[in-house]
Amino acid sequence: MNISHIEHIGIAVNSLDEAIPYYENMLGLKCYAVEEVADQKVKTAFFQVGDTKIELLESTDPEGPIGKFIEKKGPGVHHLAFAVDDVNKSLTELDEKGIRLIDQKSRKGAEGLNIGFLHPKSTLGVLTELCGKE
Ligand code: ZN
Repeated sequence: MNISHIEHIGIAVNSLDEAIPYYENMLGLKCYAVEEVADQKVKTAFFQVGDTKIELLESTDPEGPIGKFIEKKGPGVHHLAFAVDDVNKSLTELDEKGIRLIDQKSRKGAEGLNIGFLHPKSTLGVLTELCGKE
């Protein structure tokens, strides 16, 4: 498994309409895409920061993963995503090493990338995503 960089940091927000102006007007970043990922019951907004993106996540359903996260913990940092060459290969490798996986196989995430999540119980409390083109 070969991590090249931090692909993005996922941040749960109550509302994109409220969060985007903060990142744009206060931090001077530019939102370059807003995309709904129906599968994950979220609307996302992306900002490029060097090689890394900020991915804002607004829940579209209180029963979805971000809806539940915000209800329990409030808005804030939700997950860390590493860029890898091959998500499925990396998931298999980590599975063999005894890491608990949320996704046994990759699925399609935002921006057409393959993604797979590792369980925070196995990653010292950090919900970890692997992201890649393969
Ligand atoms: Zn993500």
